[in-house]
Amino acid sequence: MGYPRAFVLAHSGASGVRSGPITPSARCPAAIAVPPLPRILRSEMRCYPLAARRPRVGGGLRRESAGRKIGAWLAFGAAANIEAGVKTETPTTQLTVKAILNRVQRFAGFVYRSVVLRGEGRDTCIEVHVEPHAGMHCRCGKCLRPCPGYDTLDERSWLFVPLWNIPVWLHYAPRRVECPIHGVVVEHLPWSDGKRPIATAMMGFLAQWARRLSWRETARVFRTSWEAVYRSVEWFVEWGLAHRELRDIAAIGIDEIHWGKGRRGANFLTVIYQVDAHRRRLLWVGPRRTQASLRRGLQALGPEVVHGLRFVCSDMWKPYLQVIAKQAAQALHVLDRFHIVMHLNQAVDQVRRAESGRLRGSARAKHLKNMRWKLLRRGTRVRGYARAQLRGLVAAKLATGRAWLLKEIFQPFWRYKSPSWAQAFLRCWTTRALRSRLEPMKKVARMLRTHEPLLLNWFRAKGELSSGVVEGLNNKIRVVTRRSYGFRTYRAMEVALYHNLGHLPEPEFTHGFC
Ligand SMILES: [Zn+2]
Repeated sequence: MGYPRAFVLAHSGASGVRSGPITPSARCPAAIAVPPLPRILRSEMRCYPLAARRPRVGGGLRRESAGRKIGAWLAFGAAANIEAGVKTETPTTQLTVKAILNRVQRFAGFVYRSVVLRGEGRDTCIEVHVEPHAGMHCRCGKCLRPCPGYDTLDERSWLFVPLWNIPVWLHYAPRRVECPIHGVVVEHLPWSDGKRPIATAMMGFLAQWARRLSWRETARVFRTSWEAVYRSVEWFVEWGLAHRELRDIAAIGIDEIHWGKGRRGANFLTVIYQVDAHRRRLLWVGPRRTQASLRRGLQALGPEVVHGLRFVCSDMWKPYLQVIAKQAAQALHVLDRFHIVMHLNQAVDQVRRAESGRLRGSARAKHLKNMRWKLLRRGTRVRGYARAQLRGLVAAKLATGRAWLLKEIFQPFWRYKSPSWAQAFLRCWTTRALRSRLEPMKKVARMLRTHEPLLLNWFRAKGELSSGVVEGLNNKIRVVTRRSYGFRTYRAMEVALYHNLGHLPEPEFTHGFC
């Protein structure tokens, strides 16, 4: 039987057994602190030849009882050693970066030749040199078939996942192979994709962090550039889009999103979401909000998806209505509750702005001060002092108060179960709104009347679609676009939206780096 190296005592003959606790030392780096020997055992252990290469019990240890006690003591140490991850039977070997790399990222057909630390201070980096495995054929970069080699190109480097926040670079001189099908091409490099100077593991690593932090932050934390993070996320998204499955899509929501400054057409995006109960994700995003943009989006989803749709939720935006009527005629077209509430809120806000302009300087203007958000919230959610203010506003018989009341009495509409009763309510409400002498409210009423059938479809689809289906996703988009990613280009924002909301599949790595 062997004894743990941890118990190899430094001196076995001259001064007898050491009495203090054993601690790691130069001679015995694997030792960990264990309690000192019991006093009786110390006297019995005259000479304990543990320092021998192959440790064994001998010397003064003759009596069985003492042997058992020492055995128990050694067992404690062995257990502690195992817990600490120290191999007790064989001499410990030094952990090398190469060993870590072989464990976390082994590439078939390649070996790690050397790992060196270069530079000083902030310029420190780890350079890993990779070389081909002597006994294995190189593979064609296109069909992955083993092929004879052709020549060797210049050495290239790839940024790899940092170790203790020290950048790691992989260096390798790629070979060219002579493939019977593809001719002379660069060999298959399992850590690389195309000409990107970042290893795929690192791109995955950065992309996963870029979802938790902003891109700028990710670049700063991992000591790389914004561009590197952007390219990594782009690669990640492209991979996900190529591998995603577009099946079981019954309901989609179509919406426009404002982006950038100004209200020009170029400042809007058309987005298509999947809004099924089991899955909500961004399916497509494209520039502008024209018929052409929506047509492009539906085309990108493919005719199978479009013909399989059962519900389409959208706003009352005319180009969308036309395209949906033409391309997805079989689906029930529902006007989303969120959008109608939004139109009502906008109308109330217009009335308020016009009125506070008119009343500037007069005593009644005080009723309109700091009221914007109180007016726009759902009435039942306004409490306390704000509620008293709203009551005061209605009592003052201001136009804003009347508009707010009209908006509030529209709420019960959503609680109807039968489409015909909902229709009766809608007609009553629109009649009242049309007689309100408030132009923005009249405009909404006219709009609701024109789209009455689509509006009532909401009751036909009830139970299958949740109330504000598009709303939640819209809010998320706003969070993504507002978070300072430094989006200067449309492409960067498109990538960020797919990355955060697309629920895209992710490439698998041999090791979870983050
Ligand atoms: Zn080939």
